[in-house]
Amino acid sequence: MRALTWHGRGDIRCETVPDPKIEDARDCIIKVTSCAICGSDLHLMGGFVPGMHTHDVLGHETMGEVVEVGAGAKHKLSVGDRVVVPFTIACGECRQCKWSNFSCCERTNPNGAMQAKLYGYQVAGLYGYGEATGRIPGGQAQYLRVPMADVGPIKVPEGMTDEQVLFLSDIFPTAYQAAEHCEITPEDTILVLGCGPVGLLAIRSALMLGAKRVIAVDTVPERLALAKKSGAEVIDFNAAPIQEQVLELTHGKGPDAVIEAVGMESHGSPETLLEKAENLISSMERPFGLNDAIIACRPSGIVSLAGVFVGPVAGVNMGAYVNKGLTMKTGQTNVQRYLEPLMKRIVDGEIDPSFIITHRGGLEDGPELYKTFRDKKDGCIKVVLHPNG
Ligand SMILES: [Zn+2]
Ligand SMILES: [Zn+2]
Repeated sequence: MRALTWHGRGDIRCETVPDPKIEDARDCIIKVTSCAICGSDLHLMGGFVPGMHTHDVLGHETMGEVVEVGAGAKHKLSVGDRVVVPFTIACGECRQCKWSNFSCCERTNPNGAMQAKLYGYQVAGLYGYGEATGRIPGGQAQYLRVPMADVGPIKVPEGMTDEQVLFLSDIFPTAYQAAEHCEITPEDTILVLGCGPVGLLAIRSALMLGAKRVIAVDTVPERLALAKKSGAEVIDFNAAPIQEQVLELTHGKGPDAVIEAVGMESHGSPETLLEKAENLISSMERPFGLNDAIIACRPSGIVSLAGVFVGPVAGVNMGAYVNKGLTMKTGQTNVQRYLEPLMKRIVDGEIDPSFIITHRGGLEDGPELYKTFRDKKDGCIKVVLHPNG
């Protein structure tokens, strides 16, 4: 089959790789009808995630048609079903899965021992995301092996298009979980740092959860325009420092919670340029978005981290974090927890997450579209690929 594969920093290729096969009774194989490129795929492309190997198949936002199910397991899926596949792989049986903490599943990372050396314990296996998360081949490919297929994937109801439901695989639940972590009350003002795909869906999620105001921060005009359209007031940090604008818009009170939707490759606001120079020397991971969140949040508020981090991060402003009495909420997304309620919101017409899609293509267009997305060229916000035409 054809697939998008990793070949080193900045080098993504479309090449022929072996077809996936059923390896366990609980597996299924899907023929991929749509997949997306994620901001965290750019971290892989940029070489920020260790443990990637040449020819590793990328992609963790995937949906398609079931073409084979493992014999001997109790499957709720059958051949011909259309499904969306959560990027976090969960067994449904371990202690963490029983608590609905599917992203902390204790059994699905084949390289769990290696991960435990880094993190103390193992957490869930992920598709297309390097050695420590299991090196499980991803779904930017014509076919995908879905482990624990009796637990993860959700069937797509009649009449829903791929584009309406594809983002249930990651970014819609990720944005929604980040908003839920803000413990929103009807009086709350929520600040969203970063108006990429997750930030935009976080704006919508915070409003759906009843926030009084959402203020969104970015500097790319197309993203700010979509943020406004999504119901947020916006801050362009090229115009003036973030904190100055936050204080002005909130009459000095500050937001009750801040969703950081930027992560380790954040570029930061101009006032952190000096810090940036120092930090580039000492750390691969750049906490500018996180520090902006810590500063912008009102004392005793919540910082909800949706951005991706991999290892230790130097330069985090722990002084501000501790002295302001902030709470931080984090985690890979417990996607399985959100599939049914968020599918219902889509079916009921409360939200159509496809509003963020700007670019579409085939698998062969993938390498070029990765660059378009990375460089935010051509107004690119979100790329969807159709690997089987
Ligand atoms: Zn993703
Ligand atoms: Zn589990």
